[in-house]
Amino acid sequence: MPELPEVETIRRYLAPRLAGAIVRDVVVHDGRLRRPVPRGVRSDLPGQRIERVDRRGKYLLLSSAAGTAIVHLGMSGSLRLTEAGAPPATHDRIELLFAAGQSLRFNDPRRFGSWQWARRDPLDHPALRCLGPEPLDRGFDGRGLRRALRRRSSAVKLALLDQSLVAGVGNIYASEALFAAGVRPTARASSLSPARCDRLAVAIKQVLAAAIACGGTTLDDEGYASADGTPGRFQVELMVYGRAGEPCRRCGRAIRALRQGQRTTYFCPRCQR
Ligand SMILES: [Zn+2]
Repeated sequence: MPELPEVETIRRYLAPRLAGAIVRDVVVHDGRLRRPVPRGVRSDLPGQRIERVDRRGKYLLLSSAAGTAIVHLGMSGSLRLTEAGAPPATHDRIELLFAAGQSLRFNDPRRFGSWQWARRDPLDHPALRCLGPEPLDRGFDGRGLRRALRRRSSAVKLALLDQSLVAGVGNIYASEALFAAGVRPTARASSLSPARCDRLAVAIKQVLAAAIACGGTTLDDEGYASADGTPGRFQVELMVYGRAGEPCRRCGRAIRALRQGQRTTYFCPRCQR
């Protein structure tokens, strides 16, 4: 599932290419996504000029004077910028055709992705209103993280997946950040000391920044790719995620896996306490 680094990689590719581009038409090939594609995307977006491509958490925002398309890639969604005449792919769901001849295609085999539409400030849209701080913002630090974690009785790993606590962190980067901070994923969120919260906030920033620098994480052939089809390279840097039974790269002890809230968590029993 694409997380903050993957969406940010897509944003960085699309922003200079789409800013100023005029949407000629919006074609919904199949709107049966996690929620129905709102009418605004079809009726308001055509004729508009894309002003900016932004990101908030795991959402990509395509802004025009008429409104903002708020795109979530779900489990298996992808965006591809191509020439308008390029042959369609099997699971293409939505296509934005631009006046200059490009086409932005949203492909989603499993249909967990979504397109929403905000006529006014997208940050007030229900999808974005409840999101927590952006972890790469300066304002996100150990003190704020501690304040948020102190109210949680759950395991710290589960708390990090809650998008209202911090936006954009998912299963891969929560596991990696907890390893980098030396914190056991099962530790009770409210019990983390100020020093450990400081370390964890720094680790979240470092792991996300490193993943963005690598263009994100691509776990298998059908996994994430940027909007030009380039896969990520961070998978070879992963310290714990997906490495159950393999030796820890720091201490040599076998990495362990456990289930937390329907997801698999990976950790080193020696490096994380
Ligand atoms: Zn270790």
